[in-house]
Amino acid sequence: MNLAERDQNVIWHPYTQMKTAALPIPIVRGEGALLFSEDGQTYIDAVASWWVNLHGHAHPYIAQKVAEQLQTLEHVIFAGFTHPAAVTFAERLLQILPQGQSRIFYSDNGSTAVEVALKMAIQYWNNHGTTKKKIIAFRDSYHGDTFGAMSVSARSAFTAPFWSYLFEVAFIDVPTPGNKEESIKQLEAFAAAGDVAAFIYEPLVLGTAGMVMYTPEVLDRLMLICQQHDILTIADEVMTGFGRTGRHFATDYLQQKPDMVCLSKGLTGGTMALGATSCNEKIYEAFLHDDKSKTLFHGHSYTGNPVACAAGLASMDLLLQTETQESINRIAQRHAEFAQRIKDLPQVLEVRQQGTILAVEFEDGGTSYFSDLRDTLYSYGIDNGVILRPLGNIIYVIPPYCITDKQLDQVYQTIIGMQEIVSGKRHHPRPDRDMLHD
Ligand SMILES: *Cc1c(COP(=O)(O)O)cnc(C)c1O
Repeated sequence: MNLAERDQNVIWHPYTQMKTAALPIPIVRGEGALLFSEDGQTYIDAVASWWVNLHGHAHPYIAQKVAEQLQTLEHVIFAGFTHPAAVTFAERLLQILPQGQSRIFYSDNGSTAVEVALKMAIQYWNNHGTTKKKIIAFRDSYHGDTFGAMSVSARSAFTAPFWSYLFEVAFIDVPTPGNKEESIKQLEAFAAAGDVAAFIYEPLVLGTAGMVMYTPEVLDRLMLICQQHDILTIADEVMTGFGRTGRHFATDYLQQKPDMVCLSKGLTGGTMALGATSCNEKIYEAFLHDDKSKTLFHGHSYTGNPVACAAGLASMDLLLQTETQESINRIAQRHAEFAQRIKDLPQVLEVRQQGTILAVEFEDGGTSYFSDLRDTLYSYGIDNGVILRPLGNIIYVIPPYCITDKQLDQVYQTIIGMQEIVSGKRHHPRPDRDMLHD
C-alpha cells in the first residue's frame, strides 16, 4: 500500500468530504516555497500551507533553534513556572505589536486565541460589575472553528448544524467601498442600543470570506464609534499578522488601536502550533483582584510551549531581517503589476490586493456551475505544479516571503490559465473526485 492508501484507512482530514474527496497528495519534503511529493512531483506552495508559512518550508535556521530548544527544555507547566523562550518571545512580540498592547496570553491555535479574547472581553465587564452581553462582528467573518469562534463567525454552511448552540451575535456588514456607510450606520445603531461588550473584526482583509478587503479609514471610523461607546475592540490578526498586509500588522495602517489582538498562523513562521492573545493594561488590570473569582480561569496543557516559542523567536529573527522586508515589498510590487495585467481580462470581476495578499475574483456563472469549475481550477493548478485553493469563484495567492520571482511568474501564469478556462479559451478536464473542500 502506498501512503495515500494507508492514509485512507486511518485518517479523517479537515474540511474534507471523505466519501468523494480525491486521494491526498503525499508530501515527503519541503524547501523554500516548494513541496515535494512521494511520486517526485514539485509544487509551489502559493497558499503558504493554509496561510501559516512565512519563510519557506523546513527553514534551516528555525530547525536549528527548535532542535536546540528540544534538547534544553521541551515543555514545562506554565502555571507557577516560566521559561526563557516564553518571556523573551513575549517581550519581542510587544516590541512590534500595535501601540498599547502590554500582555501576552499564550494558547495553541487561532481559534483558541479568539476564544481567549472573547472570554477576556466578557469577563472584563463582569469583573467591573456591569454585564454587557452583546458581541458585534462582521457578517461574513471567520474567526475559527471552536464554539465561541464559530459564534462570532458568519452563519454559513460550515456552521449550520451548530447554529442553535452558538451564542447570539450582532452582525454588521463588511465595510467594503459600496457598503461603508451602511456598515457604520449598523454599528452606530447597535452601539446606541447599549449592552455591547466588544467588537471583533479581521482588520483590512477577511480571509475565508474570499479575501474581502476594506480601507483603514473606515475601520478607524468603526473603532472610534466603539471607543465613544465604551465597546472593547478585538483585532483578529491571525491571518493578517507578521507582514502579510505589507506591514507587521494590519493594525499598523490604523490611527485607532485595539484593546486585544489575536495571533497564530504566521506566529511561528508556520512551523509549530502556537496562539497568542495580547491585551492592553486596561484589560489586564480588570483581572487583578484579591477576590480570586476575578481570575481569568483559562489555560491549555501546551500553553507557552517552549519549542513553539523558540520557533516563534526564530521566525521573528527572520521576519525582521532587511532581506525579508524587501521581499515583502517585492511581492507586493509584483502582485500590483500582475493585478494591472489581469484586471481587464474577460470574466475577471475584480482584483484585490493588500501587501502580499492577492485575490482574483472571477464572474460567477451561477453556483452549481462554479462548484464544478472550482474543482477544475484547483486540479489545473495542481497539474501545473502550483497549489492554489479557490474560495468559490475567488483565486488568491498568499505566498511564503521567500518565493522567487521565477516561482511567482509560474503562479501568475497558472492564474492566467485559470482565467482562460473560466472564459472558455482553454479546456481542462473536470476531476472525477472532489478537489476542494473549503
Ligand atoms: C485561520 C483563522 C482563524 C483560526 O485559526 P486556527 O489556527 O485555524 O484555529 C481565526 N481567525 C482568522 C482570521 C483566521 O484566518
